[in-house]
Amino acid sequence: MLKRCSCGEEMSLGLRTVIFARKVNIINVPVYNCPGCGRNDVFPGVKEDVGKLVGQLGARPDPGSIPFDQVHEWAGVLSQALHVSESLQAAAIARATEERIDQLLDLLLIASSLDDERWKNEIHTRLSQLSAQYVS
Ligand SMILES: [Zn+2]
Repeated sequence: MLKRCSCGEEMSLGLRTVIFARKVNIINVPVYNCPGCGRNDVFPGVKEDVGKLVGQLGARPDPGSIPFDQVHEWAGVLSQALHVSESLQAAAIARATEERIDQLLDLLLIASSLDDERWKNEIHTRLSQLSAQYVS
């Protein structure tokens, strides 16, 4: 899960709090950090969804905290992987992703047997948040 910074250092992936409009704390956002120059880059795969979330908050949001790892499956998986090890390891992330996909597929089975279209759609959205475009 390494990325090269423009200053030449390796950036590492972690979960950080992003403060929006100085009022709203978006907690557990996957962010690349450079130990060399201190640069922070929101993980490319979730950038669009962080943007959407900020868009929903509007120009004058109420102060508060939003746990991004409960809004976005990929952030959830990273936070799960961080519980297992101190730093984010590709193998731990892959395992956590697989486990979460299995859980969601089990839920999808239940939702299908209940013919619950709304629930099914929600699970599909969550599964798509774990798709390759986010993870790689
Ligand atoms: Zn740097």
